[in-house]
Amino acid sequence: MNLEALSTGLDRLYPNPQCALDHKDAYELLVATILSAQSTDVRVNLVTPALFSRYPDPTALSRAVPAELIVFIRSVGLFNNKAAALIGMASQLVESHAGLVPDRMDALIALPGVARKTANVVLQNIWNRNEGFVVDTHISRLAQRLGLTTETKAERIERDLMSTFAVALWARRSHQLILHGREVCDARRPACDRCALFDVCPRVGLST
Ligand code: SF4
Repeated sequence: MNLEALSTGLDRLYPNPQCALDHKDAYELLVATILSAQSTDVRVNLVTPALFSRYPDPTALSRAVPAELIVFIRSVGLFNNKAAALIGMASQLVESHAGLVPDRMDALIALPGVARKTANVVLQNIWNRNEGFVVDTHISRLAQRLGLTTETKAERIERDLMSTFAVALWARRSHQLILHGREVCDARRPACDRCALFDVCPRVGLST
């Protein structure tokens, strides 16, 4: 893998990558990221305006009645688990963090429903802190096809990506890889014939 060529290609394709989940503060991004598990950012963005209007802060969410909360989040899937995670997360924010979202990895991953991916999203996009590399389904797939990892477990893929890219670029590269996975390098039908990264991509795991 020619890392410099890959980086140049990503910067040309996505010069100003941004988090695709709509949010106006740490609380909203934390909630939206929990909801995005096994769903899409587009779908999450459709439900969050009404959700945040009804539950505008951790205190309101901590007092939510599950059946009522589920009405707001049903369309994102896994709604029973996500409702329990959201109420548990909000309750812990209120009880242990004065209703504020913590800015440390260890405190974030101690919250219900929050693993490293969600914690990394919040740390990078709210606190501007690169403590790790976001690894979602798009990044896992791209990292393998681009030959940046041979691992399949998220934490091992994250470790490989952290050693591949400079720390200051972790947030930028994660946004770019997610965008490329969504727009070009589809899970089932990667559009290699129109991919700007074709010349630098070993296309690991793809036969044609
Ligand atoms: S060349 Fe194909 S496999 Fe490689 S990044 Fe592009 S679409 Fe994905």
